[in-house]
Amino acid sequence: MPRYDFRCRACGSTFEVSRPMAASDDPATCPDGHEDTVKLLSTVAMTGGAAAPRGGGGGGGGCCGGGCCG
Ligand SMILES: [Zn+2]
Repeated sequence: MPRYDFRCRACGSTFEVSRPMAASDDPATCPDGHEDTVKLLSTVAMTGGAAAPRGGGGGGGGCCGGGCCG
């Protein structure tokens, strides 16, 4: 089930709500009871699978630059 981030405009706190996509546009109530909330456009983790670490790549081999790659 996707999670949606909401922000309360009354107290300024953000909170997360798990709900089906069909109800994604329904209003959410702040944990503190405020109803003046807005849904934040956040990245919804719909894709399963493992999260691949970013960055890195291209280890510093000793070949390139040594004249053997050309
Ligand atoms: Zn609130």
